[in-house]
Amino acid sequence: MSRACYSTHMKSSQGSWDVIVIGGGASGMMAAISAAENGKRVLILEKNKSLGEKLKITGGGRCNITNAEFNVRTFLKIYGKAEPFLHSPFSQFSAKDTFTFFESRGLPLVVQARNRAFPKSEKAIDVFNVMKKSLEKAGVAVETQTTVKKIIHSNGKITGVLTNSGEYHATSYVLATGGESHPETGSTGDGFRWLRDLGHTVKTPTPTIVPLAVEEDWVTSLAGISLTFMKINFFLNGKRAFSKTGKILFTHFGLSGPLILNSATQVADLLQEGPVHTEIDAYPDTDHGALEKQIIAVFDANKNKMLKTIFKDIVPAGTGPAIQTLLPEIDFETKVHSVKKEDRKRIVHLLKALPLTISGLMGFDRAVVADGGVTLDEIDTKTMRSKVLTNMFVTGDLLHINRPSGGYSLQLCWTTGFVAGKSA
Ligand SMILES: Cc1cc2nc3c(=O)[nH]c(=O)nc-3n(C[C@H](O)[C@H](O)[C@H](O)COP(=O)(O)OP(=O)(O)OC[C@H]3O[C@@H](n4cnc5c(N)ncnc54)[C@H](O)[C@@H]3O)c2cc1C
Repeated sequence: MSRACYSTHMKSSQGSWDVIVIGGGASGMMAAISAAENGKRVLILEKNKSLGEKLKITGGGRCNITNAEFNVRTFLKIYGKAEPFLHSPFSQFSAKDTFTFFESRGLPLVVQARNRAFPKSEKAIDVFNVMKKSLEKAGVAVETQTTVKKIIHSNGKITGVLTNSGEYHATSYVLATGGESHPETGSTGDGFRWLRDLGHTVKTPTPTIVPLAVEEDWVTSLAGISLTFMKINFFLNGKRAFSKTGKILFTHFGLSGPLILNSATQVADLLQEGPVHTEIDAYPDTDHGALEKQIIAVFDANKNKMLKTIFKDIVPAGTGPAIQTLLPEIDFETKVHSVKKEDRKRIVHLLKALPLTISGLMGFDRAVVADGGVTLDEIDTKTMRSKVLTNMFVTGDLLHINRPSGGYSLQLCWTTGFVAGKSA
């Protein structure tokens, strides 16, 4: 059979392929490129109209493509229990290789705060275009709008896949159907179901990197405001459990931003045990006394102005009206020189401890990453090959690996996709 070219319109032969990749997300595309560049005849089966729908929305459309920590040992620490499993795959394709892969294909990368790497253009679509071009160049065939319905197997091997447009056959199969976060992008958990049916152990996914919902209404008026240097203290049953410092984004349902997303797993654990509330310290570098002195200085300079006029000068930008609603005892129509000492102290206290009640984690539809997936002891670390079916390889979000935000998820996709494709 002749090698088919990349085309989202063309019907590829349903005959036999060297490698069929099920799912054309980040890890599936990488697996297909890796296999095809190794001389294999490769077909991607993708249920959406186009590939890489989730990749296109990563990093808020900017795509945090990896994390520029080039010491592999340091990099792998972030994956916790999965670290030992990842040594071999990362020795084959590390964050450094991600830089080389994309930059050698005409996509320069830049490194921003916390080592997060982005395309210089800050456009996720440019990352997708590199993948698309590489698929074309490597001669990968693509069947879009083709949903895999069933994995056919016998004697410990996959023998074919049944789709809405017939059966397809290959020597090897890469499962790259993703997890369950943002299901509108196509990842609806099909892979988890198949893996279970095929005899694998699959940990049930829960949203891990996910925004938090809060009970209080006042946050909704702050939707869209992000505050860069905040400390948030989390309390379980009124007792401090843990604290984090960083950027908080207010949304119409609660809290988001890197600091919150990366607290979600711990908050989920706390919520199992009891009610959780938080206090946001808007001035973590300034203690109560120093903050009060700063406020007195602002008051002294504006004695005859109305408190409501100068309030914006003592609170984080954009939060004035919302914070006023939390101080019903204070008359904001009063002149600054008449503000009582206890009211000044109330303001200080509030700015050091803005209270919020966590009502829960947002669901899969808003999750950046969900954990869960096939347990790693059932996957061969050197090849990503299943230990249950000898010609099946598993990549990306289908693997049970917990990680924070910061480019660590896509790096897993590039690494596991590359290794699976090379080995398939
Ligand atoms: C909003 C958001 C922002 C993110 N931002 C970042 C970021 O900046 N940096 C980062 O590192 N990570 C980020 N992530 C995480 C990252 O996007 C994922 O880890 C990654 O896309 C997973 O890739 P994957 O190949 O495993 O699966 P997916 O990208 O989910 O791809 C799976 C593909 O399989 C297809 N498919 C599913 N079932 C079938 C079927 N039955 N038949 C055929 N095809 C099927 C789907 O349509 C889909 O195209 C973000 C995630 C989200 C949701």
